[in-house]
Amino acid sequence: MRLDKFLANSGIGTRKEVKIILKKGKIRVNEKIVKDAKMQVDEIKDDVKIEGEKITYKPFVYIMMNKPSGVISATEDGKHKTVIDLLCEKYKNYKVFPVGRLDIDTEGLLLLTNDGVLAHNLLSPKKHVDKKYYVELKEPLTIEKKKILENGIKLEENFVTKKAKIEIIDKDEDIEVNSVFITISEGKFHQVKRMFKFVENEVLYLKRVKMGKLLLPEDLKLGEYRELSEEEMNLIL
Ligand code: URA
Repeated sequence: MRLDKFLANSGIGTRKEVKIILKKGKIRVNEKIVKDAKMQVDEIKDDVKIEGEKITYKPFVYIMMNKPSGVISATEDGKHKTVIDLLCEKYKNYKVFPVGRLDIDTEGLLLLTNDGVLAHNLLSPKKHVDKKYYVELKEPLTIEKKKILENGIKLEENFVTKKAKIEIIDKDEDIEVNSVFITISEGKFHQVKRMFKFVENEVLYLKRVKMGKLLLPEDLKLGEYRELSEEEMNLIL
């Protein structure tokens, strides 16, 4: 592959930035300074270094973020900050995008990648990847309404929700919070909020805590992100 593509795919910079870096003589291929962006390199065999540091070819990147409220899960937005704006330059250069959407006021687990196939597999309705949310409701959820939601409701003309699982979280003696976990396998626009609205309730707070088998780690604070470990990768593949 071309050297500039190798460098851009490895998160060194955009193609344009990479050309400048090359011109400055910062790149060595097999110990020789190379300024020619078109040079062909073998991503496994050739030893490519930037200012003495080895560059490992890494075309795909998989990141999990604890999305805070107030940012949009999109790559660009004219009005609001996006989840991409929260990333450091290195990951921006990888051209990652969010896997699916969380509402602007929803927090929690969001995957970002530049691997279109994996994103498609996680989002495809045929794959039934479960998504688990922690929900705080305005009103307590009665057992009857819980059953209605779990069995499936008609949200749209041609859309009945698949079976869902709801766990009512025991109320803390002192704090009045009507909280539940809901697990759904679909991802229609505002689905969780609309489901609870259907049973005359209202979502006051929403946080995704799990996607497939991948749990939002407790030590990942709001707005923080990191690459998935190999074990975590195995949970989503
Ligand atoms: N359901 C919603 O209503 N909002 C989200 O952000 C995710 C699921």
